[in-house]
Amino acid sequence: MIPPSSAATKFKRALLLRCPRCGGSGILRSWLKMQDYCPTCGLALERGESSDFWIGAYVFNLVIGEVVALGVPIVWMIVSAPHQPWTLIEIVAIVLCVALPFVFYPFSRTLWLAWDLSFRPTEPGDE
Ligand SMILES: [Zn+2]
Repeated sequence: MIPPSSAATKFKRALLLRCPRCGGSGILRSWLKMQDYCPTCGLALERGESSDFWIGAYVFNLVIGEVVALGVPIVWMIVSAPHQPWTLIEIVAIVLCVALPFVFYPFSRTLWLAWDLSFRPTEPGDE
């Protein structure tokens, strides 16, 4: 039996790429793939919805990745006005737009799992 944890604890574990429910490590098979079950507590990481469970994670990834990828250049333009280094800002913006969704990908999945567990506690069939 896994003791219940707060939403903040679940999100903290997710940011460390650990199981949001138990805090166990090893839930990633690779940077782009998760295990089917948490090796520590046995939680089904797709939570019984198979193909469409991760749509929320894709939304997290898109929104957070693109907000950062656009926010950094915008803040940089404002802070460096009136002599903005336009070429450098454009290059950084393009690199961020391409790289951030890849870098943030596993975090979006663990954060989505933490979000889902916070609002929809473990149910029969999740293990
Ligand atoms: Zn676990």
